[in-house]
Amino acid sequence: MTETRPAQETSETLDSNAHMTLTERYAAHNYHPLPVVLSHGEGAWVTDVEGRRYLDCLAGYSALNFGHGHPRLLARAHAQLDRLTLTSRAFYNDLLGPFAQGLAELTGKEVVLPMNTGAEAVETAVKVARKWGYVVKGVPEGAANIVVMEGNFHGRTTTIVSFSDDKVARDEYGPFTPGFRSVTYGDAQALREAVDDSTVAVLLEPIQGEGGVVIPPEGYLREVREICDATGTLMVADEIQSGLARTGRTFACEHEDVVPDIYVLGKALGGGLYPVSAIAANHDVLDVIKPGTHGSTFGGNPLAAAIGHEVVTMLAEGEFQQRAATLGGVLEERLRPLVGRGLAAIRVRGLWAGLDIEPGGPSGRGLSERLLDRGVLVKDTHGSTIRIAPPLVVTEDEIGVLVDAVADSLA
Ligand SMILES: *Cc1c(COP(=O)(O)O)cnc(C)c1O
Repeated sequence: MTETRPAQETSETLDSNAHMTLTERYAAHNYHPLPVVLSHGEGAWVTDVEGRRYLDCLAGYSALNFGHGHPRLLARAHAQLDRLTLTSRAFYNDLLGPFAQGLAELTGKEVVLPMNTGAEAVETAVKVARKWGYVVKGVPEGAANIVVMEGNFHGRTTTIVSFSDDKVARDEYGPFTPGFRSVTYGDAQALREAVDDSTVAVLLEPIQGEGGVVIPPEGYLREVREICDATGTLMVADEIQSGLARTGRTFACEHEDVVPDIYVLGKALGGGLYPVSAIAANHDVLDVIKPGTHGSTFGGNPLAAAIGHEVVTMLAEGEFQQRAATLGGVLEERLRPLVGRGLAAIRVRGLWAGLDIEPGGPSGRGLSERLLDRGVLVKDTHGSTIRIAPPLVVTEDEIGVLVDAVADSLA
């Protein structure tokens, strides 16, 4: 007996408009995408269903640091798909060990705890910090607090939005998880005043990505480290977006020679192929986790571990960090002349830039749409800012294409 299965035709036969209509009809409206329907990607380029090509300067919010379909990552994933994909942690598998070792070496930490999405890794860090606070620091049970930063973005779970100050992300999702205090990002004195005997951790992004690529004042991360050392508090760096070569170093904390107690990683750890996240720390912190106290069905699965292992091996070679540093210099130099000519300010660290549009210019969304028309994909944030984060495989010529398109779009 045969049935008609309209789903089978869709991806090959529908045009962009039909795809957008279908998506809007059947997928919840939790995003407001730019009007482009992508079907292929290679390196820094993506192609829509009509065959138009675009330079991808968002790179999946840095999940695609190695570009679309990097041959090494694809080969590793394909081989693993045929071999073994999921075991659960009820058993050992032959890839978690090598991946964990590679990630521990890359971070300089003794142990890692693998999860899947970024939000889960942040949740893991929050749980570890609280448990460490009770077991090691001696905070009375139930009294722990974690100091976070205004303007933060750490994900979308109920606990994480509890300490967000973004009304859109938070409103009507209460009751909220208690135990968080928020201070001004970049203000060391405010942090010093907020930390007390019950503070178990300071959680921050070394550069605020969703906030608009906000770089804290020089010396701030070192001061955070000193405050944490002086008070016996864990410094937890959410490097999900800033880490893994984006800023020209393996971790953004390295720009100030700071080593946090816990690294929180995600996005590019999965090579743009698969969700892979983790936290990395030393035994004195992570050993508070015992069997049964925390876990994930998919965390550390063989497919994730194979991809993650290839990612950390690629990063250990240093080429991507070098590219981001060199090409980031080119990006900054090319963008600088646009300040005062459509841009109010730019913030650049490696191949990562936040561009504030001058008052009277297009909105962030408007500029993103103009760039789309010119074959460049970016994303706006907070009204009048756009974020630029091309895959690190982008070339100098392609950065020229990007900056020319920005200049044209502002004119
Ligand atoms: C994207 C992001 C997260 C959340 O990651 P998901 O994989 O979307 O859950 C957390 N922190 C930072 C800094 C991020 O950029």
